[in-house]
Amino acid sequence: MIRFASSLFARPALFIYAGIGITLATTGVTVASLYEMRLDAMAQARDAAQNLTISLQKEIERNLDIYQLAMCDAARSIETPGIAGLPPEVRQLVAFSTATNAKELGALFATDATGKLVLDSRSTQPRKLSVSDRDYFQIQRQQKNAGLYISAPFLPYAAGPRLPQIALSRRLEDRNGQFTGIVAGTLRLGYFRQLFEDSILGRHDTITLLRTDGTVLMRLPFHAGDIGKSLAGGHSFPPLVQSAHGTFVDIAVLDHIERLYSFRRIGSYPLVVVVGFATDDIFAGWRKRAMALGVVSVILDVLLILLSLMFSRQLRKRLAMERRLKRLAWFDSLTGLPNRVQLQKEAFRILTNANRNASTFAVLFIDLDRFKRVNDTQGHAAGDEVLSEIARRLQNQIQTEDVIGRLGGDEFLAILQDCDVLKATHVAGRILQAVYQPILINSKQDTRITISASIGIALSPHDGEETDILLRNADLAMYQAKSAGRNQVRFYAPAFERQAKEQLELEIALQRALRSNGLSVAYQPKVDATGVLRGVEALVRWDDAGQSSIAPDRFIAIAEESGLIVEIDAWVMGEACRQLAEWRAEGLDVPNMSVNVCAADFKRPDYPGFITQTLQSHGLVAADLTLEMTERVLFDESVDDIRKSLDAIHRLGIALSIDDFGTGYSSLSYLHRFAVKELKIDRSFVQGIGNDEMAESLAQSLIHIGKILKLTVTAEGVETPAQRDFLGRHGCHLYQGFLFSRPLAPRDFARWVRAHRLCPSSGDAHAQALQLGTTLA
Ligand code: C2E
Ligand code: CA
Ligand code: CA
Repeated sequence: MIRFASSLFARPALFIYAGIGITLATTGVTVASLYEMRLDAMAQARDAAQNLTISLQKEIERNLDIYQLAMCDAARSIETPGIAGLPPEVRQLVAFSTATNAKELGALFATDATGKLVLDSRSTQPRKLSVSDRDYFQIQRQQKNAGLYISAPFLPYAAGPRLPQIALSRRLEDRNGQFTGIVAGTLRLGYFRQLFEDSILGRHDTITLLRTDGTVLMRLPFHAGDIGKSLAGGHSFPPLVQSAHGTFVDIAVLDHIERLYSFRRIGSYPLVVVVGFATDDIFAGWRKRAMALGVVSVILDVLLILLSLMFSRQLRKRLAMERRLKRLAWFDSLTGLPNRVQLQKEAFRILTNANRNASTFAVLFIDLDRFKRVNDTQGHAAGDEVLSEIARRLQNQIQTEDVIGRLGGDEFLAILQDCDVLKATHVAGRILQAVYQPILINSKQDTRITISASIGIALSPHDGEETDILLRNADLAMYQAKSAGRNQVRFYAPAFERQAKEQLELEIALQRALRSNGLSVAYQPKVDATGVLRGVEALVRWDDAGQSSIAPDRFIAIAEESGLIVEIDAWVMGEACRQLAEWRAEGLDVPNMSVNVCAADFKRPDYPGFITQTLQSHGLVAADLTLEMTERVLFDESVDDIRKSLDAIHRLGIALSIDDFGTGYSSLSYLHRFAVKELKIDRSFVQGIGNDEMAESLAQSLIHIGKILKLTVTAEGVETPAQRDFLGRHGCHLYQGFLFSRPLAPRDFARWVRAHRLCPSSGDAHAQALQLGTTLA
């Protein structure tokens, strides 16, 4: 799997930004290139307009030049002295010899000073006509230097199709500069129309021929009304006459259409030709392309944005999943606290920091006391609730730079930075208090439970320079806190380690002893008031390979902690049953065998079956066996499993005896619930008899309880006849103790039974037991 979290991919929003960025960029490029294309279209149109203007200008200029030449010729010949004397046809011929070149334009003629036609290019007899009212005549008559004058459009005098014309005129003078008439030529405006129509392009394109005073001579598209109109008032007119040529964009006065105009002065004539291309037409092609390009780019942009959105969404999902996985891998799902893996990382980080800064830190190993009982009695949901609540409380007790995590089960770990003994003690105390507050686990029934914790503390670097060692030492200290009675804080001390080491060595040796017949069983008789043997208690012994034997209290505790006790008890049970069967086979009357058991035994799922099988294999019955257990068993965390076993054992008909009665819990209801048969009054009470009134009255009360509940009351550790007598007086049924016999090896026990059979009275028994000598205690 690609790790996204650490890369660029860790920021999905980037992809949206990138998508938007690319979209903006492509849009920008598209807009820029469209703009470029538009400029191109305009430039092309400008070139085309200019080219057309130039060609029209040239064509018109050429024709006007011819016309002017013809008029010059005519004027010169008319002014030639003596020409008036020539016959009219000769005069005409002489005057208009060059006019043939310009005949498409119209007729040439000359007038006298009154405006009367005197010469006509089209006939030898000029028409009887006066042009004195025409502007071209009047201008020439009035202005000496009018030069070649181009008239406003006018309609001819002649009948027939009256098509508009203009006239070009020149002044005629005599030698003294006196006005003698004009030479003029008419020009059909149709000629220009024809010329323009040949070059016209688009529907909205225009070609206009103007006089420099603004009078329209011809305009295409053709409307008769346009001819003769003046554009001089229009805002776009001035540029047309200010320079010889140029281009501009403007909205037409005549039809309000926007056009690109190109204009050009016709040589030196007071005429301007203007070509107009509608911008709509210029940009038509561009618009189509822009449309297509725009649509494509919008589609692409939308696609791109959608893609980047989708991609970033996918990425976001993926990142969320990764984060979840990370949480699962590094955090405890129930409490949300760092888990063991994460804690180890944190511990390492803090250790490195502390090494760098030469500072100290504390590792607090926090273990809840009897948490399993919560699970068993209240259910796992309640257990989870308790753990979450405890986690919250723990978190409240530490500072932000410190770390709290869950190692698993009911174990938590706190790492406190910059922490000395004082601060650690303070925080641990606060934690104990916080944990001990009642926890509401069922608000409907208002069920609250109270739980305590045991805390072990290791300080770095004093108690270890590596995280593993610190953790282990804090754990060791926590065990000390538990052994000290729970709800306590203990600092790690090297002695703990020594103890733990010794314990481990003992555990290993014990295991070896169990495998290699290093264990044995001693038997201590139980007698009644008359000294008759009523039973025997099997007590395990470990002789450590010749060295001094190790007291059962000690190695039993180790075996219980390591779980080895289950195997040991099973072995003792087998051995005791075998021995009982053997004694009976030898004809020894041993009524009942008591075996010591502990909580761990009952947790074996096959325990009742195991007992049945053991009894059977030695030909014994349930009534032959009594199980001795302390009250503690019934208050074990796994009380449910134990109860099931106890019920099954009870159903089998095996008697239960409460060992060390009076030292444990005050609740007595369990005596009834588990059909207990026997109470064994603890040695501590028996030994106080004769010297401790309190012990005496307690022993008395305990016997009393047994009597009320109709249980057999047995006194342990009876060492003196006075003790026996006191107990007897108050109704004790059976006795066990050195007064009768120490725990004995099997052969010695058999001898004791035989000797005792002969003389069962108690005092003697004591003497005999001492005489036997070979005691095992
Ligand atoms: P317990 O069941 O209360 O056993 C009685 C203890 O009192 C025995 O100690 C016994 O030697 C001692 N005792 C008997 N009479 C006298 C007396 O007159 N004076 C004095 N001072 N002591 C007397 P022991 O054998 O050292 O056993 C200690 C404990 O170890 C037992 O206490 C029992 O709880 C446990 N234990 C012994 N064997 C086994 C076993 O096979 N399985 C289990 N689970 N626990 C065992
Ligand atoms: Ca016992
Ligand atoms: Ca006992």
